[in-house]
Amino acid sequence: MDIKSLIRPNILALAPYSTARDEYQGGEIGVFLDANESPYDTGLNRYPDPHLKLIRERLSGIKNVKEEQIFIGNGSDEAIDLIFRVFCSPAKDNVVMIAPSYGMYKVAAEINDVEVREVLLENDYSFSAAKILEATDDKTKAIFLCSPNNPTANLLDRSEVELLIASFDGIVVVDEAYVDFCIDYCSFTTDLERFPNLIVLQTLSKAWGLAGVRFGMAFASDLIVSVMNKVKYPYNINILTQNLVYEKLLDYATIDAQCCEIIAERERLLKDFNMITFIKKIFPTDANFILIKVENANHLYNYLVNKGVIVRNRNSVVLCEGCLRITVGTNQENSELLKLLKEYE
Ligand SMILES: *Cc1c(COP(=O)(O)O)cnc(C)c1O
Repeated sequence: MDIKSLIRPNILALAPYSTARDEYQGGEIGVFLDANESPYDTGLNRYPDPHLKLIRERLSGIKNVKEEQIFIGNGSDEAIDLIFRVFCSPAKDNVVMIAPSYGMYKVAAEINDVEVREVLLENDYSFSAAKILEATDDKTKAIFLCSPNNPTANLLDRSEVELLIASFDGIVVVDEAYVDFCIDYCSFTTDLERFPNLIVLQTLSKAWGLAGVRFGMAFASDLIVSVMNKVKYPYNINILTQNLVYEKLLDYATIDAQCCEIIAERERLLKDFNMITFIKKIFPTDANFILIKVENANHLYNYLVNKGVIVRNRNSVVLCEGCLRITVGTNQENSELLKLLKEYE
């Protein structure tokens, strides 16, 4: 597949901004009079590394992908926006996405004036590659999938996703924001060599507990990553974030332990939800949240808010009528939720 032909011509031809850091690569020792920075040491007076060399090196070991296959963005949000800016010509190209799914894909598409074609999931929230392909045409540049999907919580069938990536002549994005909460699941990062048209999104915002620092990752072929890097703001990740993340990435034993705890709590909530009669349906989950269908979602939502427990009301989302999305909290938080739900009965 010719990925270059999918890239907007102006982006393919773009000569990126060349930073002072790009023009002198002789290391950190020296008298630096090349970037109009302040010479007074505040700990932050120098521009950050635009290429995030050290972090990508460390991530490469953790994620088992090459440094050249790692793009780092100011949250996954930046990677999502860049996919539109790199591949989709405004007012001309379109993208296809599953529905319901994460709201940012559509917002980013609309900001970039790119037509969105939504393909509804089945009633059990599974999807069919054939149905998605049917919605594409020669102006379709990308397909957005999310697995485990937000807000439905389920993993998409792996072989169906593979079939779609293999049969579509465009970019397929698989958003794995919740991958750390899956049991016995193999990330699509292991398929980067097989599929030059694949972009896998991950984030430090969920399992890694760093939603506040804004750090998202896109894993893709060297070519796609190099073009995304060319289009991003040179200094998209600030020094505070870079330093903090560099240290936190060593902490994956802690993160693993926390994920195990969240998974155990998730199983406890599922078990207890089963015994609550006004919960009509509990959808299978591979994420750190649970989608439930109840008799009167708005009423239950307001009841919980009045008691100080905030969940997400998904009642007005397509295929999620009557549904609340509940994040798995700490043992104590979940007990508080369960107590309130039992009193509501
Ligand atoms: C939470 C979430 C993200 C994370 O976005 P960030 O910008 O990295 O915080 C990405 N995708 C999905 C589906 C999510 O639910």
